[in-house]
Amino acid sequence: MSDDIDRLLGGRNEPRRKDKDLFETVEEVFDTATVMTIVELTRRKVIRKLSGVISAGKEARVYLASGYRGEYLAVKIYLTSSAEFRKGIYKYIAGDPRFENIRVRDTRDLIYAWTRKEYRNLKRMHAAGVKVPRPVAFMNNVLVMEFLGENGVRYPLLVEAYRELDAEELRNLYRLILEEVVKIYCKARLVHGDLSEYNVMVTPGPDVAIIDVSQAVDLSHPNADEFLARDLRNINRFFREEAGIDTLSLEELLEVVKTC
Ligand code: ATP
Ligand code: MN
Repeated sequence: MSDDIDRLLGGRNEPRRKDKDLFETVEEVFDTATVMTIVELTRRKVIRKLSGVISAGKEARVYLASGYRGEYLAVKIYLTSSAEFRKGIYKYIAGDPRFENIRVRDTRDLIYAWTRKEYRNLKRMHAAGVKVPRPVAFMNNVLVMEFLGENGVRYPLLVEAYRELDAEELRNLYRLILEEVVKIYCKARLVHGDLSEYNVMVTPGPDVAIIDVSQAVDLSHPNADEFLARDLRNINRFFREEAGIDTLSLEELLEVVKTC
């Protein structure tokens, strides 16, 4: 196992550290169970090597990894230690018929269920033709998906990219995002629930990709309508107030999304 961790941390080219040091290095961020999960994913050849951190949030870290076909992957690892997070996510899981039967003995189970939920949401959206990263695998609190970027550099988020775009491109991105919302609602039968300029990537085109779908809920969720309206309001506010383009009214948008 220490060999696996060694390989994971950079392979034979790096100076060999003592096992104890190795564990301490990884355990600064991850508990032993998480390290074991990453080791198991490498053993199963889902990922070849974990490299740089793409994003280090309070609740999850996203890493760049390489796969066995020379491709890049994005690996999202939920931190099992964030108490606020555990409180926050419960309301998205309770109320979703897909999670009625999960056993939540402890908070670890809740985070595992959350990871599985994000994987299944991604799968459903991807199958419906929504522009999301292709899901690859999940295990415990680790989600592996397609890396959206070029040469190991991720594409910019909408919030990072919009200043460089002209009004016509911005109007087009607005339209493209609304098309994705319609697909998510009408084809995947989900509501994203956390849509904003922080969870939309600008891909070459310029085109868009939707990310961070862990909180997406089934249309039967009691709060689905409320989440949909909030998503649309977020997008409208961003395009009107930050990007400075004309937007449709919330009523018009709801009409478009819901008549499918
Ligand atoms: P939370 O809101 O639960 O803390 P998060 O916002 O940290 O989640 P994400 O939005 O899914 O989690 O990912 C964080 C960042 O990682 C994104 O803003 C984006 O920069 C990057 N990222 C996520 N998924 C991918 C991907 N598939 N390819 C490239 N970069 C990604
Ligand atoms: Mn996010």
